[in-house]
Amino acid sequence: MPSKFNFPKISNFIVYIHEFDKFDESGNQKCRNHNCMKSVCKPFRKYCSKKCSIQFTKWYNANFYWRNIRNQVLKRDNYTCQICGIVLHRKKRFNKPLKNWLECDHIIPKSYYYHLGYQFDTLDNKVKTILEFIHNGNNLRTLCYKCHKNLSANVVSDRSKLLNPYDDTN
Ligand SMILES: [Zn+2]
Ligand SMILES: [Zn+2]
Repeated sequence: MPSKFNFPKISNFIVYIHEFDKFDESGNQKCRNHNCMKSVCKPFRKYCSKKCSIQFTKWYNANFYWRNIRNQVLKRDNYTCQICGIVLHRKKRFNKPLKNWLECDHIIPKSYYYHLGYQFDTLDNKVKTILEFIHNGNNLRTLCYKCHKNLSANVVSDRSKLLNPYDDTN
């Protein structure tokens, strides 16, 4: 069990698109797409071809933009709070005076990535952590604002105790 002293706290689990940039030994830019070792080719500054550009951008947008992930989860759950069952059209999310909109909740809090064996240091580890845990649909659910707020106040501390009874920092 890792102690709280070596528990790296991360506020934003973000992998920026430029983190995928790669270069050869001479410093020339290679195509950003996975497993593509070709050099970049005009008119593209980051890719070797239109195919790689489209393929990579599609993959990145679908997996790393939180807004897209959240919208997928809300749609999957039919815009229904998974605790109280209220159904809200997505437009109502912006009806803030009613505090009546839907949010996307991490069932196991993001901060517990470390306890689950994930790391957020190298690019490979970041990608793995995001795809398998942070943006994994199995760990995400739709909640209304009120249920999400109550949960944050009460249940998160209980869940964290389940995962690490020795960690009192959360
Ligand atoms: Zn390429
Ligand atoms: Zn609710």
